[in-house]
Amino acid sequence: MSSKTYDAIIIGAGIVGSACAAECAREGMSVAIVEAGIIGGGATAAGMGHLVVMDDSEAQFALTRYSQQLWDEISDELPREVEHDACGTIWIAAAEEEMAEALRKEKFYAQHGVKTEILDAQALAEAEPNLRRGLVGGLRVPGDSVIYAPCAAQFFVDQARAKGAELFLGVPVEAVAAGGVRLRDGTFIAAGLVVNSAGSSSPALTPGLEVKKRKGHLVITDRYPNFVRHQLVELGYLKSAHSLTAESIAFNVQPRKTGQLLIGSSRQFGLEDSHVDTSILTRMLERAVEYLPGLGKLSALRTWTGFRAATPDKLPLIGPHTEHDRLYLATGHEGLGITTSLGTAKLLVSQMINRETAIPVTPYLPARMAKEPVHA
Ligand SMILES: Cc1cc2nc3c(=O)[nH]c(=O)nc-3n(C[C@H](O)[C@H](O)[C@H](O)COP(=O)(O)OP(=O)(O)OC[C@H]3O[C@@H](n4cnc5c(N)ncnc54)[C@H](O)[C@@H]3O)c2cc1C
Repeated sequence: MSSKTYDAIIIGAGIVGSACAAECAREGMSVAIVEAGIIGGGATAAGMGHLVVMDDSEAQFALTRYSQQLWDEISDELPREVEHDACGTIWIAAAEEEMAEALRKEKFYAQHGVKTEILDAQALAEAEPNLRRGLVGGLRVPGDSVIYAPCAAQFFVDQARAKGAELFLGVPVEAVAAGGVRLRDGTFIAAGLVVNSAGSSSPALTPGLEVKKRKGHLVITDRYPNFVRHQLVELGYLKSAHSLTAESIAFNVQPRKTGQLLIGSSRQFGLEDSHVDTSILTRMLERAVEYLPGLGKLSALRTWTGFRAATPDKLPLIGPHTEHDRLYLATGHEGLGITTSLGTAKLLVSQMINRETAIPVTPYLPARMAKEPVHA
């Protein structure tokens, strides 16, 4: 048993747990961070690092927008290795119906104070000369950006430790118990509050959570500076990301500060194994070449997979568990957890210390998933 009782234990040092740990420590709490593997080595290392405002629902918009503002506030403090790049996003319309979606998005964003710019076919070709001709246009969102998320997680852990947080690395939490957690090596760490921020592994520690694994593939190329200048996403991506069917792919390409290109993306439900599936990879790359024909001549260096933690309503779980006193959840961020980590940390810690939240928290509360009692 560790000799100390912490105010809070954070389980998992992905981008979400790390941001929560830094926020708890900033509020003066004594914090223990327990990470089974390495800092930022889970979905955080597998993801794209696109900091993006999304509007699938008002609640998703509110959290992504709030989080993006928090990222902007700290952008000057981020160390160089976080590779923050304010490249913006272009949502690409390949057909008239997708252009209608670009216009709908433009209107929604304008009503909510987000700057955008509609591009016609010519403006799109000028902005991104390597895109194929014949595309209808697009929507540029200049405020979106890109980071290298594992280094951001490390930065948040460093911030937490500078304020006294202690890091327990390399030993998994085996069980969450009353008053703390038990590690696999038998150590018991005592705390007033426990935060389950173990990403797609969170249901293993808190059975009954409605969080499922959603597998994704990515490819990274050699260095080709300026091959693309914005994060490029097909508007069809929205259909693919919403789809609850077993698998989907969409064109999604990101320029890295190194000059490399990160190519995505795929979504598959119901899979536990992390192996690279060549058939889905082929479909994903064919889709990318449809949009960027020159991509076929570039060299790919590495491909990998990761697991998003998906909830049925595509919103994360942020707040107290409905049945377990003193257990909080910060999980279920699906494909937006890098973006929403900072907003999550603020919303979570405000609830832990009974402070009013900066945006309404109700849509993200775990209580929304509580099962209705069954009456005979
Ligand atoms: C292909 C792909 C592309 C993506 N692209 C983007 C994007 O562009 N933008 C965006 O915002 N998001 C993106 N995401 C989503 C994003 O990566 C995740 O939502 C985010 O990283 C989740 O962070 P996390 O801290 O909750 O989980 P993780 O990063 O998975 O961290 C959980 C941590 O908990 C640890 N852990 C697990 N079990 C235990 C235990 N028992 N004891 C102790 N520690 C434990 C793990 O080792 C891990 O380090 C993408 C995801 C994928 C897969």
